[in-house]
Amino acid sequence: RCGFVAIVGRPNVGKSTLMNRILGQKISITSRRPQTTRHQVMGIKTEGDDQVIYVDTPGMHIMSKDRNKAINRFMNQAASQALRDVDCVVFIVDRTRWMPEDQVVLDKLTHVKAPVILAVNKVDWLEDKASLLPWLEEVGAKRDFAAILPLSAKHGSNVPELEIEVAKHL
Ligand code: GDP
Ligand code: MG
Repeated sequence: RCGFVAIVGRPNVGKSTLMNRILGQKISITSRRPQTTRHQVMGIKTEGDDQVIYVDTPGMHIMSKDRNKAINRFMNQAASQALRDVDCVVFIVDRTRWMPEDQVVLDKLTHVKAPVILAVNKVDWLEDKASLLPWLEEVGAKRDFAAILPLSAKHGSNVPELEIEVAKHL
């Protein structure tokens, strides 16, 4: 089996960190500063008979003030492009707060027919894991997600489970 998987989410949610974690190497630059990834970063993970091509999309940030800047247009275009013909989308959000930028990304997925998996990242920050439940319900209701997974891209918890979900759609 093989397939294309797009990793999407507003800047700073942990797309590059997840990509590096899945691929087991630092192929995508991670940073506290948003918009570190200017180009699409692709990585291929081969495991047994499965070959999955992950695409770490540059930020979808049309909320930024200078929305007409060429670099923004370019990056938005690249992000939309990455969503065409994918087998599966991993939509990453942070564990705490739904931001307008999250909605922008979700809106971009409206016409995407491929299954969308919701990954709630950075749960290693949570002291009280039970506080996550209402949040999972709230965000989980925003779309018919193929799966909803709390995880930590940085520490790796639940990342193998995410890969198993992804493999169902190859
Ligand atoms: P991107 O803009 O979506 O590609 O986000 P990055 O992967 O560059 O991550 C942004 C920041 O969040 C970096 O400082 C990462 O180290 C941090 N980060 C990413 N994933 C996690 C996580 O699971 N837990 C914690 N605590 N920090 C994370
Ligand atoms: Mg990045």
